[in-house]
Amino acid sequence: MNTVFVTNFVYIISSVLFAFGLKFLGSPVTARRGNILSSIGMLLAVLATLFNGHIISFQWIAIGVIIGAALGALVAFKAAMTQMPEMIALLHGCGALASVFVDWTAYQVHGTVDLTNTITLYLSIVIGGLTVTGSGIAWGKLSEKIPGKPILFTGQKWFNVGLITAILVLGVLFILNPARHDLFLAILGLSLVFGVFIVIPIGGADMPVVISVLNSYSGIVACTTGFVIHNTLLIVVGSLVGANGMILSIIMCKAMNRSIGNVIFGAFGSVVKKAAGEKKEAKAISVEDAFLVLENAKSLVFIPGYGMAVAQAQHAVRELSELMEKNGCDVKFAIHPVAGRMPGHMNVLLAEANISYDKLLEMDAINPLMETVDVAIVIGANDVVNPASRHDKSSPIYGMPIINADKAKTVFVLKRSMATGFAGIENELFYYDNCRMIFGDAKQTIQALVAEFKSSQQH
Ligand code: NDP
Repeated sequence: MNTVFVTNFVYIISSVLFAFGLKFLGSPVTARRGNILSSIGMLLAVLATLFNGHIISFQWIAIGVIIGAALGALVAFKAAMTQMPEMIALLHGCGALASVFVDWTAYQVHGTVDLTNTITLYLSIVIGGLTVTGSGIAWGKLSEKIPGKPILFTGQKWFNVGLITAILVLGVLFILNPARHDLFLAILGLSLVFGVFIVIPIGGADMPVVISVLNSYSGIVACTTGFVIHNTLLIVVGSLVGANGMILSIIMCKAMNRSIGNVIFGAFGSVVKKAAGEKKEAKAISVEDAFLVLENAKSLVFIPGYGMAVAQAQHAVRELSELMEKNGCDVKFAIHPVAGRMPGHMNVLLAEANISYDKLLEMDAINPLMETVDVAIVIGANDVVNPASRHDKSSPIYGMPIINADKAKTVFVLKRSMATGFAGIENELFYYDNCRMIFGDAKQTIQALVAEFKSSQQH
């Protein structure tokens, strides 16, 4: 058996493992298995590549592996759950940077062999270049290292049109003269600049969708790099990542009732809009009084949001849910597809607290039941329970499907202040007659409710 045959055979196995890995990542129940399968696929792919006989320097590879693994482990251990989106942005940037380096080296060593090779090399450095800097800016905005609000200047549109035109014109020249290294470098440089200018006008609030789009681009770059260096596995894996990133971006946009074009080209989240309709006072309730209501509740729905992630309240929530169940109450969790700051954010947190999956209900399953629910506890959620999305046509979230917390007999909202959420708009739910605010950090409030339950059991 020759090495090429073995390598290609292992690549096929890896591709199958990646495809199944992605499939399993689609549900929290199978996600861990998906992760393990994909990791095995990656390990096999790396081993097959290392043993295919074309490696020039194992020494440099070893140094790269050690530095990369140490940095990766450090960042992964240090990053908090709420910092995941920005960490993902950084990782996409690194992936695209690696592809650009591979393209550059391949071009430097072999030049290009035919027209297809030149075109894919051109596409690779353009998409790769803009993904590297675009991801860097997205990381900066999310981690608040640079201002999150859209950065705009006069003539920005024309500047961007100029950049695109230059990249296209130089591209045609490069395809006609593939030996011109100066053109290669100019295209790469302009693409890096373009990445900065395409992301700075987008508000920090829309960065999670932008990151998902950049994720897709990093897959496309891996794919085009696969064509450049004739590596089938890169082509397959790059296509999988590219397609799945694009599907995820579309799902996120749909759940926010936006279009991708609107996210990329429109500033959102920078306006604070007052709640429509007559303005009443939001009514607060103490933990002691809230406990009395909960003690008599026969059904309870927790509606978690971004604030639960910030407060890290998930373990306290599980404790309260167990006490409520012991008290004869039916407990469920309502999961909105874009609650939190990344897809599946709430599922991950609740799974971490060992809350069983069968208690988690998607929006479409829970909404028809909401009218029969005694108490809904909104834990640090805001936009995903804002009833304005159902009737206020002037609201930026009009049309976004929500969890109908307001339909429950009583609603408790756990948050620290009357501050707005991600969309920057006031929530009319807080002023409804059946709604009571419990102000404070969500974890402390839930812990106080747990303490009330425990002390009542002792008496
Ligand atoms: P929101 O951002 O609407 O609201 C979160 C609320 O949590 C805030 O109003 C804040 O109020 C409260 N909060 C923050 N920290 C705490 C704390 N320690 N204790 C208690 N409360 C706290 O979150 P939602 O989950 O309701 O909505 C998600 C939003 O993010 C949607 O608009 C969605 O479109 C958007 N989005 C989601 C993505 C995803 O993939 N999940 C991706 C992109 C955008 P206060 O400061 O008063 O405490």
